[in-house]
Amino acid sequence: MAGELIVVMRPEAAADETEAVLERIRLAGFGVHTTMVGERLLISVEAGGDTAELEEMLPQMDGVVRAVPVQSPYKLVAKEASDGPSAVPIGPTALVGAGHFGVIAGPCAVEDADQLFAAAEAVRRAGAVAMRGGAYKPRSSPYSFQGLGTQGLRLLAEAKARTGLAIVTEVLDPRHVEAVAAVADVLQVGARNMQNFALLREVGQGQRPVLLKRGMTATYEEWLMAAEYILAAGNPNVILCERGVRSFETYTRNMFDVAAIPVVHQLSHLPVIADPSHGAGRWRMVHPLALAAVAAGADGLLVEVHPNPARALSDGAQSLTPDNFSRLMAAVLTLRTALKGEQPALRQP
Ligand code: PEP
Ligand code: MN
Repeated sequence: MAGELIVVMRPEAAADETEAVLERIRLAGFGVHTTMVGERLLISVEAGGDTAELEEMLPQMDGVVRAVPVQSPYKLVAKEASDGPSAVPIGPTALVGAGHFGVIAGPCAVEDADQLFAAAEAVRRAGAVAMRGGAYKPRSSPYSFQGLGTQGLRLLAEAKARTGLAIVTEVLDPRHVEAVAAVADVLQVGARNMQNFALLREVGQGQRPVLLKRGMTATYEEWLMAAEYILAAGNPNVILCERGVRSFETYTRNMFDVAAIPVVHQLSHLPVIADPSHGAGRWRMVHPLALAAVAAGADGLLVEVHPNPARALSDGAQSLTPDNFSRLMAAVLTLRTALKGEQPALRQP
């Protein structure tokens, strides 16, 4: 892996300056790959030789901010690729990341109009920035409720029109990306699809921000490499979501990995949010795990809320009632206020 380099261009770099840099890299015998991350063009110099000379030379060229060697297999998502944390839009007005915090909430699945509109109204009132709800559900059994499909998308569009909330919904199949993106403000790629590379490429070629859940047995590196697919395909807007991993424990559905939050912040500029609902699979655990994630620095939360969890067609056991969700939102606000200005120790003696 040694010798790989990311070249960060100034946002105002002229086209001929960029061309000169690309030319210089090619002349040295390296392949290049370019991606816009926010306003900036990032040039990654592909592996295949000693880049020490380029690392010295390129920062002297016009338009270049810096050239950073990147040891990790992921490059565009690496912390070094950006001047600071990235903020990703959720709908026309909200951001997540770089100090912006947002909560996405709603039912596991879109079931019918009454359920969805009641959930939408409840989460809007409690202060969520976006509503969630799957029209396409990745179920372990083919005999379980699979979601309402295009009818579910229509209901989501109507919930959005009624409440003004942005919509986050899962896309399961590369062939559905266009239709889902027509309604969704953010496309969710679920845990089971984290390494569906065809799907990652497809959402990477689109404009919609992507919420990328951690696969249930994925290492941090595998998760970040999955995000790298999306950025490498041209879409800089990825929000990572920790949702618990498989473990030996059976009491909880998954083992929520709170360490994932500071780890992602150490390795990447991308925002990371927490899903305490799938994190434990039990509604009583959602409140404490959500607060743990906020205390660990999460940029937001994804919470399952159902107007009547006992009647939910999927994930009722981990869904909060609207009242309990309002209590959680109040506690999150209190905790965030208490933590304001809190900085982790940056130096050890
Ligand atoms: C969901 O968000 O409802 C879901 C299926 O999540 P995950 O992919 O994390 O299991
Ligand atoms: Mn669910």
